[in-house]
Amino acid sequence: MPASALVLFSAGQDSATCLAWALSRYRQVDTIGFSYGQRHRVELDQRPLLRGRIAALGLGGALGEDRVVDISGYGALAESALTTEAAIVMAEGGLPSTFVPGRNLVFLSIAAAHAYRRGAEALIGGMCETDYSGYPDCRRETLDAMERALSLGLGRALRIETPLMYKTKAQTWTLALELGGAALVELIVEHSHTCYEGDREHRHVWGYGCGICPACVLRAKGWAAFAS
Ligand code: ZN
Repeated sequence: MPASALVLFSAGQDSATCLAWALSRYRQVDTIGFSYGQRHRVELDQRPLLRGRIAALGLGGALGEDRVVDISGYGALAESALTTEAAIVMAEGGLPSTFVPGRNLVFLSIAAAHAYRRGAEALIGGMCETDYSGYPDCRRETLDAMERALSLGLGRALRIETPLMYKTKAQTWTLALELGGAALVELIVEHSHTCYEGDREHRHVWGYGCGICPACVLRAKGWAAFAS
């Protein structure tokens, strides 16, 4: 079993599954998250609860420390730079208006600095080409280049592992079932948060959310395909 990894954890369905995946493969797993001026703090509020529940399943590895890094300065910069292009991005890829260009590159750079200090061998993230073809910084080709840049820049090999890269949302649920059984699936449904509107009032079979925003539609569709 490899020693240690750092999971990019947002408390969404994908990163929750990644955390379970990492705990089943690494002896020590830390998490990192980012506060960059999101419209809703729901994901940041759900993270301690979700982390604790996943750790309690006893998947193998030990859950270490969590760190939330405030990068709201970057969030403000990226948002103001995008205002004239936002409508185009929405139209082409169905991306949310909160889409921040190059966001994953910034996340990975900061995570790499933390991983270096913590002695982690790998960064693990829920980046996925399958459902969000519009995010160029989620593509494996981008991450291969980033992995090389970070390893060169740090003077030490650092892997970027993306277990969900070629999975559909339904296949991500199946992976959760394989990793932690029905208990893991149920706690991801109940405690993970994906909705862009920050809705924790409306409970559906697939979890909480407005049911209308692109993230909710995708999650509902994935759950329906998984459950059928
Ligand atoms: Zn929603």
